[in-house]
This record gives sequence, C-alpha cells and structure tokens, in this order.
Amino acid sequence: MEQLTFLAVHAHPDDEASSTGGLYRLLANEGVRTVLVTCTNGECGDALDGAKPNADHHDGDAVAAIRAKELERAVEVLGIDRLVRLGYRDSGMMGWPQNDDVECFWQVPIEVAAARLAQIIEEERPQVIVTYNEIGFYGHPDHIQANRVTLAALTMIDYEPTLYYNAIPNTVMARFRERWEQEDRERRETNAAKGIVEPEESSEQGEIDMGTPDELIGASIDVSDVTDAKYDALAAHHSQMADAFWLKMDREQFKAVMGREWFVRITNPMKLDGVVEDIFAGYR
Ligand SMILES: [Zn+2]
Repeated sequence: MEQLTFLAVHAHPDDEASSTGGLYRLLANEGVRTVLVTCTNGECGDALDGAKPNADHHDGDAVAAIRAKELERAVEVLGIDRLVRLGYRDSGMMGWPQNDDVECFWQVPIEVAAARLAQIIEEERPQVIVTYNEIGFYGHPDHIQANRVTLAALTMIDYEPTLYYNAIPNTVMARFRERWEQEDRERRETNAAKGIVEPEESSEQGEIDMGTPDELIGASIDVSDVTDAKYDALAAHHSQMADAFWLKMDREQFKAVMGREWFVRITNPMKLDGVVEDIFAGYR
C-alpha cells in the first residue's frame, strides 16, 4: 500500500499541539508518516519570567531558543517523524511594531516562502495537508501568512493533496466561551475577595469570531484515546502556558473537553461527501 503521509503547516511552536496535537499522535499510532512545518521561531512569545514582548528586558532570541527546545519535546511526545523549521521571525499580533520587521514572516514575499514549502511537499508528497483558514483562525499575521503560503505552495506542486483548515464548530466554541467566562468570573471574585480590583478585560480574542458554522465541518476526528499525549505536548511548551486554559484542567476534564479535533475541507481530490471521521478518508 502507498505510504500515507500527513503534513501540517503551523505558525509558531505550540500551534502543532493546540490545534493538531491529537491528530498527530493518532496518525503516528496508526503508522502514518507525519511532518510538521513550523514557520516562525516564536520570538514574540512570553519569556521564562512571564515577560511579554513589549517589556524592556524581553529578549526575542532567548525566547526563541527556549521555544525551540520545547518544540523538540512536543514533537517527540506527538511522534512527529520530521520537523522542518522555516525559521522566520515571529510577526507578533496584528498592529504590533514587530509586523514591520523585514525578517518577520509577515514581510516575507509569499512566493519565496511558498517555494520552500512546495519543495518540502514535493519531497514528502503528503496526501493530506492541514493549515489555518484565511483569517488565520484568530487573526494572527503569522497564521494568516501560513494560510497564504500554503495556498501558494499548492499551486507550485504537480499533484493535488486534500487540504483541510483546522476549525472549531460554533457550538463547541460557545461551550468554550462559557468556560472562559466562568473562569474569568471566578478569578475576579477570588481577587475581589482579596481586595484586588481588576480593570475590565480587553480580550485579545474578543473581536474575531474563531468559530466555524457547524455545517462547514468536513472532518471530525475522535482523538479521545490520545488526549494524554496532547496534554503532554501542550505542557512541553511550558514557557507559553502560564495563562492557557487547557492546562488548568485535570487530565479527565481535558479528555472530556479536548477529545475531538475538527477540520474544514478545502480541496477534495477524493470527492468526499459530508463529515468524515478519518482524515485519510478516500486514501485507505
Ligand atoms: Zn500561533
């Protein structure tokens, strides 16, 4: 039988774990070859002391070095066969001054990065590719660029893989939102009891709707058997997880909440219909 190969294009170290961690581990367990392309080094992440990139002592190169090690650990946990780092600088969130850094991913001509990605795709010939949608799932420039670069790369290769965008159905997003709001309320109450008054939240994620209409979902993958690996992969990105809601759950809760990953089908060479439960549907 033909070797099955899966490739995901992610923006930063830790995205592979949060949006495709279950899928990676599941596919590795099934003997599928798995490849991860990480576009940036994540210089705009949190420093080890929790410092944000706008802090004076925040050292992007030091952050990237830590995140490179964390990524290696996550790759091991998820059983990823090949990691390719494109090595671009993190562009930061939309509107940050880092967007203008000539070395950042956002500033790289799409065809230049796409040619590099196309070469990897031709080497590996994955049947299935995953990346983000055109709003980069939540509006981050590096995620948007990952979408554009992937689409451009697909025009440079000599075959048509099945492309999926990772997604969270609106109904699930509504449950997550409830959970975040409840956590937020509880934190405010605890703080208020201690006499700490918090300013009103300006949610970074607030303005962009991260959910996808349920009827657009083309693949719904049960990853409940591998949520421990997904949890460990997220935990491997220790420096970035201080505020992460995932790791505030215990493993049982995590399994209940994170036991499924969803995708929207963008190209469909195998002429699939409806929602598949196997990302390689049509290929095996
Ligand atoms: Zn990211």
